[in-house]
Amino acid sequence: MNFLKLEGIHHSYFSKSTATTALSDISLEVGEGEFISFLGPSGCGKTTLLSIIAGIIKPTEGIVTLENKPIRKTGNSIGYMLQQDYLFPWKTIEENILLGLKLGKNLNSRNKAYTLDLLHQMGLKGFEAQYPKQLSGGMRQRVALVRTLSTEPKLLLLDEPFSALDYQTKLNLEDLVSNTLKSFKKTAILVTHDIGEAIAMSNRIYLFSARPGRIFQIFTVPRELRELSPFHARNHESFSEIFQTIWKELDSIE
Ligand code: ADP
Ligand code: MG
Repeated sequence: MNFLKLEGIHHSYFSKSTATTALSDISLEVGEGEFISFLGPSGCGKTTLLSIIAGIIKPTEGIVTLENKPIRKTGNSIGYMLQQDYLFPWKTIEENILLGLKLGKNLNSRNKAYTLDLLHQMGLKGFEAQYPKQLSGGMRQRVALVRTLSTEPKLLLLDEPFSALDYQTKLNLEDLVSNTLKSFKKTAILVTHDIGEAIAMSNRIYLFSARPGRIFQIFTVPRELRELSPFHARNHESFSEIFQTIWKELDSIE
C-alpha cells in the first residue's frame, strides 16, 4: 500500500510570542485508487494536513512520500481543489481550465482535447466561451474540478469542495465527482465536516480529535456502500448505522 505514506507528522505554527500545535503524531497510508476522508471539528488541522501532503507547508516533523519519493520532488502530480473555486473572472471557462497546463508549459493538442472532453463529460459543453460569473456555484465547482484534473494528477486533494453549495447541488456534485474519480481510478483525499458526505464517498474515514489534531479513530466504509453512488449509498440501510456510530464519536470529541 505504499502509494501515499505519512510518517510521524507533527506541525506547529510559530509566531514571535506563540506556538500553535496544529497536528500531532499523524501516520497513515493510502493505497492507489482509494478515496479517503478526513473528518473532524473545525480547527483540528485538516487543511494544514492537506497543505503538508501537497508540499505547500513543510511539517515541523515527519515525512510524506508519494510512490516512495519525498513529496516536494513530485512536481505537479498533485491536484488541489478548494471550497472557493478560484476561477479567474476575466478569463473564459476554456482559458480557466487550460491554465494549469499552460503554466506548466504542457499545453498540447492531446491534453487540450482531453480537458475539453472532461468539460463536456461534466455537462458543460457549450460553456467554453462564457465567463465564470455567468455560471452557477455548482457549475463553477465542476469547472474547477476539470481544471484540477487537466494536468492528470496522481493524487487529488479536496478541501471541503461542496460545503458552499446548496444541498441539491452538493448531492449531484458528489455523484459526479465520485463517478469521475472512480472511472479514472484516481486516489483522493476529501476534507469534510459532513459525516454523510464522508460515508457516501469514501473507502475509509479518519476521524480527527480537536486541536492538536490526532487520528482519533478510523472507520472502514462497508463494501455494500462503497459499490453504490454517493446518492444511493445515503439511502442504503447500512448508512444510518455507521452514521450513528461516527456521530457519537464526533460528539464525544467536540
Ligand atoms: P481545519 O482545516 O481543520 O479547520 P486548520 O488546519 O485550518 O484546521 O487549522 C488548524 C489550527 O492551526 C487552527 O488552530 C488554526 O488557527 C491554526 N492555523 C492555521 N493556519 C495557521 C497559520 N498560517 N498561522 C498560525 N496558525 C494557523
Ligand atoms: Mg480547513
